[in-house]
Amino acid sequence: MTFPTTPLDLGGDCSCSVARLDLLHPVVSGNKWFKLTYYLSLGLPVVTFGGPYSNHLVATAYACREKGIPCTGIVRGEEPAVLSPSLLDCLAYGMTLRFVSRAAYRGDFDFPGCTVIPEGGAGPLGVRGASLILAGAPPFTHVVCAVGTGTTLLGLDAALSPGQSAIGIPVIAVPSADRSSFDASLGLSVASSLVHGYAFGGYARHTPELIRFMNEFHALYGVPLDFVYTAKAAFALVDLVLSGFFPAGSRVLFLHTGGLQGNRSLPPLALSF
Ligand SMILES: *Cc1c(COP(=O)(O)O)cnc(C)c1O
Repeated sequence: MTFPTTPLDLGGDCSCSVARLDLLHPVVSGNKWFKLTYYLSLGLPVVTFGGPYSNHLVATAYACREKGIPCTGIVRGEEPAVLSPSLLDCLAYGMTLRFVSRAAYRGDFDFPGCTVIPEGGAGPLGVRGASLILAGAPPFTHVVCAVGTGTTLLGLDAALSPGQSAIGIPVIAVPSADRSSFDASLGLSVASSLVHGYAFGGYARHTPELIRFMNEFHALYGVPLDFVYTAKAAFALVDLVLSGFFPAGSRVLFLHTGGLQGNRSLPPLALSF
């Protein structure tokens, strides 16, 4: 699967472009699509997990419909009186939803005869699927992406050629003291690394500065970002380029992993796009 790229003029002495996985589908997150590849190729009914704004649930519902595979989404929390737009999409794509309490959500589930996909499409098959992303990429020295479970980054890392590296930007806040063990637990090769400090308060949190950045980025480059993942990673990208993180002459590829549907949880007038 190939995707378009958008050049970014960030100044500095390296070139940057955005790999537009967001353009692969209007609703389904680019990286989620890849992560599902091998799970769905098993052909069994699918059970998976997520929260009410989960990009992964929407992507799974859509992809299963495309393949004619029945799927169930286990949603964290009590069933709300009004379903989120993301969950309404899941239902429209034919996913069966089951709501479980936060306590039960953490428990073990047993679904005989089904493919159980971990939250976010994580796991070894998810990594293998994510390793397919770079097959459609232009030449680069560094690839930068947002990190949730780290599955996408691990897939990129596995697909690197000599001389290339993958840089992940965690969108969850990891306290400084825990960062080295967090990084080590991911199991990246020496070519790749994480850069912390761009979580803007934690997972799915945002600040006025982040929203302003998203509007400016769209006005300058015509690239819409989502506030949970890609905006934080793009903010980091700009900061890293301007602070000389990348050696002169680097060709930096920023992976736009999609996720724009998640912006529907923002107040209607927050974004200019
Ligand atoms: C899920 C998601 C990510 C995080 O991917 P991981 O493989 O879990 O690290 C990044 N960007 C977007 C838009 C996502 O939806």
